[in-house]
Amino acid sequence: MDVLLKADNISGGYNNKEAVIRDVSLEVKRGDFLGIIGPNGSGKSTLLRLMTHVLIPQKGKVTLEGKDITRMNLKEFSRKAAFVPQETLINFSFKVQEIVLMGRIPHLKRLQFETKKDFLAAEDALSLTDALYLKDKEIDRLSSGERQRVIIAKALAQEPVLLFLDEPTSHLDIGHQIQILDLLKKLNQEKKLTIVIVLHDLNLVSEYCDRIVLLNEGRIFCEGTPSEVLTYQNIEAVYKTIVVVNKNPISFKPYVVLVSGNRVCRRD
Ligand code: ADP
Ligand code: MG
Repeated sequence: MDVLLKADNISGGYNNKEAVIRDVSLEVKRGDFLGIIGPNGSGKSTLLRLMTHVLIPQKGKVTLEGKDITRMNLKEFSRKAAFVPQETLINFSFKVQEIVLMGRIPHLKRLQFETKKDFLAAEDALSLTDALYLKDKEIDRLSSGERQRVIIAKALAQEPVLLFLDEPTSHLDIGHQIQILDLLKKLNQEKKLTIVIVLHDLNLVSEYCDRIVLLNEGRIFCEGTPSEVLTYQNIEAVYKTIVVVNKNPISFKPYVVLVSGNRVCRRD
């Protein structure tokens, strides 16, 4: 598999303060389904922002198909990569369809209006996330789960080759969590959409991701397959909490069980 995006020894953070992400090197190969995990504040969102041109690294560089992303203009970058951020605050009463059509902007020429093709791409994306029925509603009148599905549809309408998502399932019920992740898996397998996703649910990461990066205090603690990364030793060291790791009886992936603090934990 060829390398699609590469973070080469990057450090960075906010407003020239001390770097939040320190000396991180990471390769995203075409076709990857890569999960990023780590405790609150470990730098997951900051790392995604550095990889998506939202923040510029203080040190090191990020390349997309070999090209330094700071040398790409936003439109050029957005034709290849889409980003679903963690918090999406939309303060205006845009209609859902208008929001999703904004995903088409990178494909429009200057001063060009959307064509039928763009409207169809927007509707397809809304159908994929089970949100077509919301098409004519105003975004600020939706539940947070519905809004989340619309924002994901906007990213899909962008028709990227690389999709970054920052905790996209945090507002979704379990049915919609699985629905969105199944959809991402399908797009990954059938359309070769490369996915980099931050998830805090270790069991979802285990089920869906082929490769996991575990962050701790702005650095990569370890990376590998779910079985390599999701060991009780790694989880306890980084999250400072006791867990038992079993195997999911259906998928045979690691399955992390939390143990309440006042239990005595026996390790044989
Ligand atoms: P995570 O996504 O893993 O919870 P973040 O990347 O959001 O972690 O945060 C890592 C560190 O960066 C935290 O110490 C946080 O306070 C800081 N940070 C995050 N966002 C900002 C911001 N917009 N401005 C300044 N500091 C920030
Ligand atoms: Mg975050």
